[in-house]
Amino acid sequence: MSRYIASRAIRGANALVTEAELMLKKALAEKGPETPVAFPNTAYYLPLINGMTGIEVENLGQLEPVMKHAKQLLHPVPSKNNWTPYLGETLDSGMATLIAAETIEAIRFVYDLQPEPMPGFSLAGGTAFTSPDNGGGGNGTDGHLNGPIDDIQLRSWGIQLVDGRMPGFAAIVGAAKSNEVAVKLVRELQRRNILTFLSGNVNGRSIIHQLIEEGVELGYDTYTVPFGTDTLSAIYALGFAVRSALTFGGLKGGMARDILLYNKNRVFAFVLALGEVDDLKYAAAAGAINFGFPVIADTVIPEILPTGVTTYEHVVSMPFNEIEAKDDLERAERLVQKCIEIRGVKVKVADVPVPVPYGSAFEGEVVRKADMRIEFGGKYSRCFEYLHMVPLEDIVDGNVQVIGPTFDEIPEQGSMDVGIVVKVAGRQMQEDFEPVLERQIHYFINGASGIQHIGQRDIAWIRISTGAADKGFNLEHFGKILHARYHSDFGAIVDKVEVTIFTEPDQIQAWLEKARQAYDFRNKRLADLTDSSVDEFYSCTLCQSFAPNHVCVVSPERLGLCGAYNWLDCKASFSINPTGPNQPIKLGKLVDGDKGYWTGTNDYAKVGSHGVVEEVAMYSIMENPMTACGCFECIVMLIPESNGVMVVSREDTSMTPAGMTFSTLAGIAGGGLQTPGVMGVGKFYLISPKFISADGGFKRVVWMSSVLKETMADELRAVAEREGDPDLITKIADERNATSVDELLAWMEENNHPALVMDPIF
Ligand code: SF4
Ligand code: ZN
Repeated sequence: MSRYIASRAIRGANALVTEAELMLKKALAEKGPETPVAFPNTAYYLPLINGMTGIEVENLGQLEPVMKHAKQLLHPVPSKNNWTPYLGETLDSGMATLIAAETIEAIRFVYDLQPEPMPGFSLAGGTAFTSPDNGGGGNGTDGHLNGPIDDIQLRSWGIQLVDGRMPGFAAIVGAAKSNEVAVKLVRELQRRNILTFLSGNVNGRSIIHQLIEEGVELGYDTYTVPFGTDTLSAIYALGFAVRSALTFGGLKGGMARDILLYNKNRVFAFVLALGEVDDLKYAAAAGAINFGFPVIADTVIPEILPTGVTTYEHVVSMPFNEIEAKDDLERAERLVQKCIEIRGVKVKVADVPVPVPYGSAFEGEVVRKADMRIEFGGKYSRCFEYLHMVPLEDIVDGNVQVIGPTFDEIPEQGSMDVGIVVKVAGRQMQEDFEPVLERQIHYFINGASGIQHIGQRDIAWIRISTGAADKGFNLEHFGKILHARYHSDFGAIVDKVEVTIFTEPDQIQAWLEKARQAYDFRNKRLADLTDSSVDEFYSCTLCQSFAPNHVCVVSPERLGLCGAYNWLDCKASFSINPTGPNQPIKLGKLVDGDKGYWTGTNDYAKVGSHGVVEEVAMYSIMENPMTACGCFECIVMLIPESNGVMVVSREDTSMTPAGMTFSTLAGIAGGGLQTPGVMGVGKFYLISPKFISADGGFKRVVWMSSVLKETMADELRAVAEREGDPDLITKIADERNATSVDELLAWMEENNHPALVMDPIF
């Protein structure tokens, strides 16, 4: 253990704790102890403090015991001639630093100083529901940096963190040698789908400034989140880490040791310190080491070798100018590789032969009209995609053909018709897997930087940016991408892939007809695929790496709560990976067809949950409801006074009649425990005939986030018809007309909601 690091970290910690105490004293005097303190949109209070001490800080006064705790962790700076190991002292000081840093940020929120203002800056944001032409949404913080990550975003990354698409996060603190290096570092991390959190500065200059100057889009959608230009804002990375453990690991505030171990074992994160390291940075780094996150510096600093707190080395120095490489860009690449190696991050990347950067980090990217070279589909043209299986001998693997003219002749920002037809063959391939594979086209094509893909089937809509076209991206590359990705992601069922891109009108017409016949056929197949027509359901334990006792039971009529896995997906996944997270559950004997109990599902629930859950009712929210990890698309919750349930969408940040927002509700619904009356679900379960059918079905829905009403309008209309009440959806309240129980009841009376006259729900 280096005395140099220990001394500087301990000194930094002492200074910061003193600063936090002074700030708190001043704030208490000016604002009073009752003044509310909170980070936006989180159910976990001040997450690091909550995780490490169990204190649920809601007002300034409660920060006093917190600071007392931080003070107790401090140690005197080691004297010059007395050498002891110091590791414990250094780690304690690091923890005190983190607590002080979170306290300071919380006080800054009280004074409206967080998120940090950044005039003229806006975050790359937006959801699948915002059209690219209206600016793509945004996180609503124009003119500010991001500040802490909200629970909604944390949960929506959850599934990617769990299934390995997102291997971990990098907390970058400081400023890179040059703007060029800053961009390269971020690109290298994005390429590997590693979340990048940005903070800190060196002499006032931050990597955030460097990236903004270079026009790099920062925000949730690009996996690059600017926290703040000071070192303190790096605390948000550790708040994120704590919440991962609380959200997905079923841990509670105050379980400090478990939370730290959880992070060491499951969250592949590291700190990359760019530029000079001062006392405060040493102290914060010591805090990160508590989580098992190693620190890599691009300057000369003493190293800390492995002692078990992190997996490998704790602190590694890799002076940038001494990295052996032909230029700075290659040095940046090496530096990122080194970080990954030291943290042991597992990275999966398919080698996709396209002239633009490629990786999941680009999936959410938006191509605006002004930046567009050409589009296929949308308002002015048609685009369809169709994947089907053929006998092995009928195709040549890797064959990519464009039939018809290229887009060279189409003017800038123009459009043209395109049909993408994919033929796959494989010994393990089944017709049932066609829609599963076809749906991947969206993700695969979106992975190319500068390409945007929306929709599926015959309402696909693809844009190529001018930047991508200038780099030589053309129609053929769609085929190259699909070929590479089907092999890398579905190699177990796909042996050969052939792609044809049609732009020739007659051929498009002919193939479109074939495709539509196939879509119809699949729709019928799906409609016939009911829970009673199969003799096995599937388990999904993908989320167990985060929520160790949670299992999704996926049936034809009830998809996984994340919305990403339906019964066919699970079936395909089982074929691809027979020992993987999706296993068939033989139904065995039917115990209760109304509530949805089988001997097979009950047995599995016990085993899969490691005894935490005894039984699972597939069709009830009131009795033994299915548990939830944290990735649910919607929360369904009983409103006792209404004799019905409300459905809150993840996208809805407004208040609900239960007196809580989605983030707060999520804290109740997740964690892998059964809570009668509360359930996390995938949104397509809402339209299933088996949706809480034991409790009265869809007619129990008395309130629903308007975003669901809008985005699922057609499906919901069909449900209303099925339920024999065509106006049902208009009788359901939403956040625009009821945000309290009283308002809800008044609305129900006024609109004659059927739940009023149904049998008591409990
Ligand atoms: Fe996680 Fe359930 Fe989705 Fe599987 S189906 S990934 S367990 S939420
Ligand atoms: Zn999950």
